[in-house]
Amino acid sequence: MKEVKKPKVPLIFYYCIVVICLILFNALARPLIMERQIKEVDYGTFMTMTDNKQIDEVEIDAQENLIYFTDKDDKIYKTAMVEDNGLTQRLHDAGISFSGQEIRQSSPILTILLSWILPILIFVLIGQYMSKKMMNRAGGDNFMTFGMGKSNAKIYVKSSEGIRFSDVAGEDEAKENLTEIVEYLHNPDRYKDIGASMPKGILLVGPPGTGKTMLAKAVAGEANVPFFSMSGSEFVEMFVGMGASKVRDLFRQAKEKAPCIVFIDEIDAIGKKRNGQYGGNDEREQTLNQLLTEMDGFEENTGVIILAATNRPESLDPALLRPGRFDRRVPVELPDLKGREDILKVHAKKVKVADNIDYNKVARMASGASGAELANIVNEAALRAVRDGRQFVTQADLEESIEVVIAGYQKKNAILTDKEKKIVAYHEVGHALVAARQTNSAPVQKITIVPRTSGALGYTMQVEEGNHYLMSKEEMENKIATLTGGRAAEELIFGSVTTGASNDIEQATKLARAMITRYGMSEEFDMVAMETQTNPYLGDDTSMTCSAETQREIDKKVVELVKKQHEKAFGILSDNRQKLDELASFLYKEETITGEQFMNILNA
Ligand code: ADP
Repeated sequence: MKEVKKPKVPLIFYYCIVVICLILFNALARPLIMERQIKEVDYGTFMTMTDNKQIDEVEIDAQENLIYFTDKDDKIYKTAMVEDNGLTQRLHDAGISFSGQEIRQSSPILTILLSWILPILIFVLIGQYMSKKMMNRAGGDNFMTFGMGKSNAKIYVKSSEGIRFSDVAGEDEAKENLTEIVEYLHNPDRYKDIGASMPKGILLVGPPGTGKTMLAKAVAGEANVPFFSMSGSEFVEMFVGMGASKVRDLFRQAKEKAPCIVFIDEIDAIGKKRNGQYGGNDEREQTLNQLLTEMDGFEENTGVIILAATNRPESLDPALLRPGRFDRRVPVELPDLKGREDILKVHAKKVKVADNIDYNKVARMASGASGAELANIVNEAALRAVRDGRQFVTQADLEESIEVVIAGYQKKNAILTDKEKKIVAYHEVGHALVAARQTNSAPVQKITIVPRTSGALGYTMQVEEGNHYLMSKEEMENKIATLTGGRAAEELIFGSVTTGASNDIEQATKLARAMITRYGMSEEFDMVAMETQTNPYLGDDTSMTCSAETQREIDKKVVELVKKQHEKAFGILSDNRQKLDELASFLYKEETITGEQFMNILNA
């Protein structure tokens, strides 16, 4: 969409021009006005006039070698100075005053008038003109001095290359929900006739990078109406009251342009719950209050639809979510397998790709990726193709770029010692072998032991066969066993342990804890929640809701659970010791092993 910005000239700019004009006036024009007309005469005339006593005053300018003098009519003359020893005496005899005072200067009244009164007058006049102009533009908003308090929302007007629903892949439910809005904007009378009113505000919630901003733009694109976009944080200013003023300005503009869409990204920046405690954030709360007032203020069916996006819906103020404000909530979740495939295809259209790309496979490999990450994967693949001097993107580019996005670039000059490389090979094969031997675990797609910039010395890429919405208790246990498989292999082969398992340990503990505290998968605690999720879209934060004693019990249970799975993994690897050695030495030599090669060796 085309972004149209109003040309903004802050008031300070005009003041600067005034100051510059004054300086120029003082430097150039004033001396011309102030200096009275001076007539140039020769020295002889000066002497004659002196002798005839026609001269009133004389000023001798020794620096410039000039003599200025006035006649009885106050007319000024000037003449070049000539070596004349008797001059002073002659002047004295003629009764002429030569006090040294500048005779060229004009009267003091004129001086004051020109250097003080006139500039002040100009200042006042320009100031009045400007403030009148600003008032007209701002609708009387007196916060507008120096351009502060203006909403500076980006305005996108309808244009042919606008984003459409077809550009947003997957997210069918969200699109369906928003189609209604588009229909309303096309044909508001249909709704008015029956007495139905559109929701004023629609809140798009979901993890980052799932296409919320895109969806909002698509609504505007489909409806062919102006689109005001602003981020929540842009409202919050240093001065209290400025944010509120920006909200007012935004809504005023929106009402002028109706029907239109106002999009507020990251609304949690201003919409956070007001805690009512002393010393809260005044500016933010005032801004929120103004937003609430504005949303109440405009009547239904004025054609202004407010879309907002957030990934922290739980932190929003309840007043913002009540009916009549943001009363509709549209979830924009991470894409499922089909969604990921579609998103990849949408973005692959923008680059040159080979004909035989298996998007389904790539989508399966990128499980859990958001739309933004998938877009990034396609772009990384294109960059890799350019780097390798190819004309188009291949399947291998896409697969490698998933690894780049997940684990970072290959570290070309990280040199592992022989022993370390061996340990890493056993560690990674340990994970994969435990996973493969447990029927419920997803098969391995690829294992590599090439160090990555993320710090991983190697990793096992697992591929889900389809969408997974539920996980059974056994599956979770197997996953923990798989996570402990790396460490178990080190113990079995080398009889000692390394620091390489830190990430596995973290993940295994998290899973085990969640099984007990949130999923009710332990006998003792039955279906009692010991933890609540505080931030589902941003990194699974949780907070404990049980007593300290119970926490101690939980900790014990977690240790028990992980230990049991660790032992199980160790058992699996001991039983398959020969395969473990075989696979590890293959990986050690080749540095990469695909799922197919792995299964071939395992089943040989
Ligand atoms: P959000 O606002 O949810 O954080 P954005 O809408 O800004 O995410 O998306 C960021 C980028 O990710 C988009 O510019 C687009 O390239 C890509 N993207 C995200 N979701 C999708 C999708 N469903 N279809 C196509 N592209 C997507």
